[in-house]
Amino acid sequence: MSTQGTPERQTHPETHHQTHREIHREVVAARSPWSWVLRAGQELQVIDLDGNQAVDFLAYDAHDTARAYSVQATLQDQDSVFLTTGSVLRDNEHEPLLTVVADEVGRHDTLGGACSKESNTLRYGHHTWSQHACVENFLVELSRHGMGKRDHVSNVNWFMNVPVDPDGALGIVDGISAPGLSLRLRAEKDTLVLVSNCPQVNNPCNGFDPSRAEMVVSERA
Ligand SMILES: [Zn+2]
Repeated sequence: MSTQGTPERQTHPETHHQTHREIHREVVAARSPWSWVLRAGQELQVIDLDGNQAVDFLAYDAHDTARAYSVQATLQDQDSVFLTTGSVLRDNEHEPLLTVVADEVGRHDTLGGACSKESNTLRYGHHTWSQHACVENFLVELSRHGMGKRDHVSNVNWFMNVPVDPDGALGIVDGISAPGLSLRLRAEKDTLVLVSNCPQVNNPCNGFDPSRAEMVVSERA
């Protein structure tokens, strides 16, 4: 670290956009999937553009997709069931895939899983069978990388609010995020990331009105 900075510089630390060069920026439409291969060291900012929008998320070692994100390995390594700044997303061999390096929301879920036609019909009735769900998004996006149902693992739900009651009960309740809030992830190795911008309309996870998310990929300048 340089000791030659002016006093002004020392009291005004460099911001992210001064230290990072943007590589890619894309708005993911409501209800849509998205994926990207992050190179080691690159960062992904996930922005809840319109607020209260769950962004379901999968991650795999880009060179060996049998090494997939593991909820258990990730939670074993930290003292909380929620994800926030400092959380390390680990694969099933307990190796770091991604680290949460910034978080404006405070906590994110990785227990509630992804919505599916099957879970919708169980929870909300047979009339929801024809509704598009996150699992369908993931299967479409996985197929673009030569992967299928066997590769589909448990996921993260960025911006989704799933409080854990003292008796262990889980709920899916109104979000604590707000328009424009975001988090940033740093890839610890080359990592394939997949997103389902959640289409759910039967519970409050998207404010009953699925909306946009924005993805910004950057690397150190
Ligand atoms: Zn969903």
